[in-house]
Amino acid sequence: MAPKKLKDIAHRRFDPLKGTWVLLASPQKNKRPRQGQREVVTASEKQAYDPNCYLCPGNTRANGIRNPEYTGTFAFENDFSTVRMDEGECHQHTPEIDVAPDLLRVEPVIGRCYVLTYSAIHHYNISDMTAQDVLCIVDAWTRIYSRYLSSDSPLRMSTTSADDHGPSSREETTLENTNLRYMHVFDNNGEIVGCSNTHPHGQIWITSSMPDGPSQEIAQMSRYRQYHGGRHMLQDYVRLEMDKEERIVWQNDGFLAVCPWWAVWPYEVLLLPKRQVRGLVDLSQTEKFQFSEAILQVAKLYDNLFETTFPYISALHQAPLNATEGELESSYLHMHFSPPLLFPSIKKFFGGYELYAEPTREITPETAAARLRHSGAQLLMSSCRSKAVGSQAQEEFMLIGSPGETLRSGETSSWWRQGL
Ligand SMILES: [Zn+2]
Ligand SMILES: [Zn+2]
Repeated sequence: MAPKKLKDIAHRRFDPLKGTWVLLASPQKNKRPRQGQREVVTASEKQAYDPNCYLCPGNTRANGIRNPEYTGTFAFENDFSTVRMDEGECHQHTPEIDVAPDLLRVEPVIGRCYVLTYSAIHHYNISDMTAQDVLCIVDAWTRIYSRYLSSDSPLRMSTTSADDHGPSSREETTLENTNLRYMHVFDNNGEIVGCSNTHPHGQIWITSSMPDGPSQEIAQMSRYRQYHGGRHMLQDYVRLEMDKEERIVWQNDGFLAVCPWWAVWPYEVLLLPKRQVRGLVDLSQTEKFQFSEAILQVAKLYDNLFETTFPYISALHQAPLNATEGELESSYLHMHFSPPLLFPSIKKFFGGYELYAEPTREITPETAAARLRHSGAQLLMSSCRSKAVGSQAQEEFMLIGSPGETLRSGETSSWWRQGL
């Protein structure tokens, strides 16, 4: 019997960043009619200012502090921070059992949590902005990162450009030599992923501990360097994807967006610089603009894909604030986008296999990349954002994707309507 192609069989793919596997379902699974809970993706009401929003300019937040009349980005310390600088001591009573210190391990965490609004306009999404607007967000991330870099970090040599920021940025950030360990930038974009306030904003948590996600990745990248004579995993991966051209979603001179070979979420995207960038402060002003342009284009492609405001979780990974020499050399800035939607109204769930065995996915990353690529960079949202999608007719929908699926440019923004 002739060997089958990957797209025709169940198989596992390895994620070298995490050192874990993802199981790609057999195409037979995808012929199953979809039933069960449907998410109604509702659009936010179009209002530039909401008097009840605690992020809008001039409004008073829950702790009584009034926001300034900002016009661009605005960063402030979260009024209900998950971690705080004034905690840190903890005493745990452990019984006289010799294994208790190993089995009941604990350590205190201190830090700061910031909220960063992306725009003064309440109903905006990143996809409504210009690359110049997004650059203000990247500049704000860079500025806060450079402030929290440890005093002896070699990255401090690269911080000149970070201090050059646009006039539209405002921050209420406390500056002190905190010697914190890691700055995690993330965005829970959309009610489906737990965001209760639709004002465009993201979060920045700076902690004394190294979180597991980036820690695992830096360890993997470090192992790769040792094994491959000092080469960088993600730089090699950029070259490989540019050579293969199977999973590219979008690119400019400085950045590449791909549905990674090991993607878990249906339309997961990994955004990578084409050269090694250890942290935001390594980016030149041109590269920061290229990065902003790439973030904007990914957001637009997502919105175009299902013709709705596309929910996603994104996160920026880079070098720790007080990186060791080895960690610094292994670090490679990148950004993850993990949207939960499989269809316009169907969310991917992590069930018993995904939670306790390994993640699974239904469509190949090659198919997801082709659909995103061909959804076109022109924003189609203006006429359809007010629509709530989630037709009952989609219950009959079958997954049709395969790496060989051919999509004609211009027709693909509604590919998911096929079969309705
Ligand atoms: Zn608002
Ligand atoms: Zn990462």
